[in-house]
Amino acid sequence: MLNIVLFGPPGAGKGTQSEKLIAKYKLAHLSTGDIFRDHISRKTELGVKVKEYIDNGLLVPDEVTVGILKAAIEANAGATGFIFDGFPRTVHQAEVLDGMLTTLNTKIHSVIALDVNEDELKKRIEIRRQTSGRADDDAEKVLKRIDEYFQKTIHVLPYYEAQGKAVKVQGIGEIETIFTAICKAVDSAK
Ligand code: ADP
Repeated sequence: MLNIVLFGPPGAGKGTQSEKLIAKYKLAHLSTGDIFRDHISRKTELGVKVKEYIDNGLLVPDEVTVGILKAAIEANAGATGFIFDGFPRTVHQAEVLDGMLTTLNTKIHSVIALDVNEDELKKRIEIRRQTSGRADDDAEKVLKRIDEYFQKTIHVLPYYEAQGKAVKVQGIGEIETIFTAICKAVDSAK
């Protein structure tokens, strides 16, 4: 298996680069944000539970997030690998993920951290807001999401640095140039 975590703040380009990675490496895409939005649009019990957090730019509690991730991994039992997009967002989630992968006799091979400064993130999300229809792309909610990132999620990086798996990639520039840099990191971790 080949398992990659695509890491970075909201607006860093995780979704864009995930699509390209999936096409190239034939991985199953696990985006917790996409899974939550799907539940919200179908008004499932889970969707109703998480909507308030997401619309307000807050992280969904770990026990809920870990549960949906476990289910998503199980639903993709035949996958040749995973790209984790937007997960883990807390150190606890990272620890649980390691445990789940160990049970499957596999591991995270590489953590790609997309590096984009705060001004650029705000600009990108403002442009996206005009077409995304996402309640959490509103300017005030974006600040909350960036704040959550720097309060809680940033600590995930040292967790993977300690395992020697984190690679920082410059997230500003041409999409293709960024993709090439990501592939280089992935290929050297395989
Ligand atoms: P972005 O990367 O643009 O912030 P995502 O689609 O990854 O967007 O996530 C949208 C929202 O879904 C987050 O702001 C958060 O509320 C919730 N969410 C997604 N993944 C997680 C996670 N791993 N832990 C907690 N909340 C999450």
